[in-house]
Amino acid sequence: SDDASQKERVVTEEEWLQKWEMGNIGFHKEQGHPLFQKYLDVLLNGRNGLRIFFPLCGKAVEMKWLADMGHSVVGVEVSEQAVKEFFSEHNLPYYEEPVPEISGAKMFQSTSGNISLYCCSIYDLSSSIVGKFDGVWDRGALVAVNPRDRQRYASLMINLVEKNSSYLLVTVSYDPSKHKGPPFYVPESEIKSLFG
Ligand code: SAH
Repeated sequence: SDDASQKERVVTEEEWLQKWEMGNIGFHKEQGHPLFQKYLDVLLNGRNGLRIFFPLCGKAVEMKWLADMGHSVVGVEVSEQAVKEFFSEHNLPYYEEPVPEISGAKMFQSTSGNISLYCCSIYDLSSSIVGKFDGVWDRGALVAVNPRDRQRYASLMINLVEKNSSYLLVTVSYDPSKHKGPPFYVPESEIKSLFG
């Protein structure tokens, strides 16, 4: 099917913040996403001590799980409420500090040091700020990006990953004329053209 009906749709950062304030966060999965469990081995491929990136992370519980397995996790999220809820719901002490390279941004880090969540727009990040990653968990991220920003998002993600990295991407399949999104419908052909 055709996603022309969603091409012009824009969800602003302000609208995302409002969703968090109102508790309209039906996307959040307290028990984690079933596909994470299913494909975890593909993500890790037997490797230890990886750096894993969570774009548009919300308060995804998988970040805690990976940290507990000994990996280090970096996330980015515009909602400070989401970031704070993540740490408080897992009883994780954290500190916050400004990010010198990004005006207005804050970085929240667990005191144990293995979870760092940047509170800013993903478009403010670059590998010079966050480094490169061995793995990416992209669920509710590409599909939440405004359709007009997909190319920019994909180019950034390609820049943030190491050569030997694994990128797990969850998309949703539905008739885009029946729902305005997010999550947006991203056809497989587009995923191929964005990521090669
Ligand atoms: N990946 C998470 C959240 C999915 S919802 C999960 O699986 O639960 C999408 C999230 O992206 C929301 O929490 C929203 O606040 C955040 N977001 C939207 N636009 C963003 C942007 N440009 N930069 C960073 N975060 C963004």
